[in-house]
Amino acid sequence: MEKYFPKAEKDVALNAYSTFRIGGKARYLIRVSDKEELEEAVKKSWELKIPFYILGGGSNTLISDKGFDGLVIIFKKQKPDVFVEEKGDFGTIETDASTPLSFLVGHLDGFTGLEWAIGIPGTLAGAINGNAGAFDESIADSIESVEVLEAGKEIKKKELSKKECGFDYRTSIFKSNPRLVILSARLKLKKGDKEKIKEKIKENLEKRRDHPPGFSLGSVFKNYYGEVDQAIVKKYPQIKNFQEKKGFVPAGFLIEECGLKGTRIGDAEISSRHANFIVNLEKAKSENVLKLMNLIKKEVKKKFLIDLEEEIQIFSP
Ligand SMILES: Cc1cc2nc3c(=O)[nH]c(=O)nc-3n(C[C@H](O)[C@H](O)[C@H](O)COP(=O)(O)OP(=O)(O)OC[C@H]3O[C@@H](n4cnc5c(N)ncnc54)[C@H](O)[C@@H]3O)c2cc1C
Repeated sequence: MEKYFPKAEKDVALNAYSTFRIGGKARYLIRVSDKEELEEAVKKSWELKIPFYILGGGSNTLISDKGFDGLVIIFKKQKPDVFVEEKGDFGTIETDASTPLSFLVGHLDGFTGLEWAIGIPGTLAGAINGNAGAFDESIADSIESVEVLEAGKEIKKKELSKKECGFDYRTSIFKSNPRLVILSARLKLKKGDKEKIKEKIKENLEKRRDHPPGFSLGSVFKNYYGEVDQAIVKKYPQIKNFQEKKGFVPAGFLIEECGLKGTRIGDAEISSRHANFIVNLEKAKSENVLKLMNLIKKEVKKKFLIDLEEEIQIFSP
């Protein structure tokens, strides 16, 4: 390993690289500066059959306390390169996988379409992987294409169109296919009124005020878009309201109705401010979080006959 990755650090605690501050040690960790270095690291790992995992901002990933007996690839913190080409009323934006989403929101002065992303931590690649979104919009709305590395019999670099990315609510083909590595992406945004954009960003930040402060991964479960048993809808008329107004039932509502707000296992707590957030009060373990997640799923199933699906990703050996 030392021969092929001389800059790799050994036995690195991963909790420092997650917004949840949870996670065991990685046997090896390397920091890459740009997509060329990412490509090189991934190719070497594939060729040498070394298991690897790419961590963006670590803001959507529950890292196991058991750590990872392989190579974790993270991005160096540095000012990203963002190339903007204006064409009529639109701009095409090209940038690396590692570009923080928040940087894009702030940097793309005069372009509209990413205002929803204000306040979301993490990288563009992490957002593409899980089709991050808020307020009825998501990253898929702005993606034109994604440059990827794909491992098969040989390693190929290719450009996937938005359609080929298989975006859906909080998912994409990247989520289920670890043999696809995102190198960079091209976004298409419309030009907009600067003052209106600023106003929208301010409004969206305001809406995030109910989010619990502290260490978390944001929403743990996806909102529920499926059918609900009519007897249950009759008992909880709010469900019909949500379905009519939003098109889904918020996971937070279901969890709150189960009386789970404030439930604690170890230092992991179902937030009393927002039931779909689990917060790490100080020294929570991944096991504590998994137990809380199982409890939530069990109680929601029992009360509402609904199977909640995880929004967060679980990285375990
Ligand atoms: C306070 C808070 C609020 C949040 N609010 C929202 C919200 O409103 N909406 C929302 O959707 N999310 C929200 N999130 C969750 C999270 O911030 C987003 O999903 C974010 O886009 C994840 O990006 P990341 O870089 O941190 O991903 P990570 O957690 O680092 O990675 C996510 C997945 O992407 C994979 N990945 C990373 N880089 C690559 C690559 N180059 N190629 C292939 N796969 C890769 C990882 O292996 C992992 O499986 C919130 C989180 C927090 C803490």
